[in-house]
Amino acid sequence: MTSLIATSLDSQDIPEPSSVAGKLNLLGLSREALVDFFAEMGEKPFRAQQLMKWLYHRGVSDFEQMTDMSKALRTKLAQVACIIVPEIVVQNYSTDGTRKWVMRMPGGSSIETVYIPDGGRGTLCVSSQIGCAVDCSFCSTGKQGFNRNLTAAEIIGQMWIAAHSFGSRDVSSERYVTNVVFMGMGEPLLNYGPVLNASKLMMDDLGFGIGKRRLTISTSGVVPAIDQLGDDTDVSLAISLHAPTDELRDVLVPLNRKYPIAVLLAACQRYLDKLPDKRKITIEYTLMKDVNDSPEQAAQLAAVLADLPVKINLIPFNPFPNSGYERPSRNAAMRFSKILQEAGHIATIRTTRGDDIDAACGQLVGQVADRTRRQERWKQQHDQAAGL
Ligand code: SF4
Repeated sequence: MTSLIATSLDSQDIPEPSSVAGKLNLLGLSREALVDFFAEMGEKPFRAQQLMKWLYHRGVSDFEQMTDMSKALRTKLAQVACIIVPEIVVQNYSTDGTRKWVMRMPGGSSIETVYIPDGGRGTLCVSSQIGCAVDCSFCSTGKQGFNRNLTAAEIIGQMWIAAHSFGSRDVSSERYVTNVVFMGMGEPLLNYGPVLNASKLMMDDLGFGIGKRRLTISTSGVVPAIDQLGDDTDVSLAISLHAPTDELRDVLVPLNRKYPIAVLLAACQRYLDKLPDKRKITIEYTLMKDVNDSPEQAAQLAAVLADLPVKINLIPFNPFPNSGYERPSRNAAMRFSKILQEAGHIATIRTTRGDDIDAACGQLVGQVADRTRRQERWKQQHDQAAGL
């Protein structure tokens, strides 16, 4: 199964910059690329700044409305360029303030993006791929199979839609999205270039101005890409660990067979060593009843993480049909958390949000035109087990 997963950073399928009907899509282009684009048109670098303010701060995607540019320039822009944002097919707002969008991508598949408000903080959970090739055994996204990587435009487009869903305010002065986590569909570090480019735009003051500590890339453990990421940026890092031993993690997260826990945690330490400030790695641990939620496993986890600065997020499993896993009791989750805390770790149990709109963690499935036939095989297995 892991042979499906290309981990060479050179072999990423990076279909960008994107163009539509021969016109360059300016959404997702870096500030530098926009300066070059305008230079080719014989325009000064400040045009890039003007365009970014219209596009990202004010949410304007129509050149005609960019009124501090001359009519001639706007006409010229419309002839050679376009701004294509993802198409929203479903938009759900939960009673707890959580918002979820299903967005259709060229090719027909769809992805999901979720916004979770919490006090003064608004966290956007973005997708990086259509489906996911890693196939973690407990993950509903993994069961959908894999279609393709998202482009930087399709990733920043999710941010654009969420940030401007609160009305026509200038988002640089009134921020609703304060934090971004790459924890939606896909393994972000298997789509390295577009994820990095989109992250840089999210952090750019002329983009969405998200602080580097408030942007978290979450990975199931693509070790070479973690090392590369430490050379290229200093965003926060989260690891989907989910098991304290290789024996169990090999089953839950197949990528572990390629990059076992010790190798992964060593890469995390190297990542922290490259950061200019003191930070912790976030450890994501989905608690599943009678699989990884025993007191012994809590003690093992505490020991495995003893030497790495971490904060541990415990996520009670959100069941989905035929998952084969169950949510642990509240008591089991509390007991697990207490053991970690008594060992000196910061451990919190994540509260489930957006349950009523299927936006809870692990429930993001979109609609994937699967190129791996995993979806089909998974359905067949369950039909057979059910005697259908
Ligand atoms: S948990 Fe993450 S890496 Fe694993 S299959 Fe799901 S989306 Fe992919």
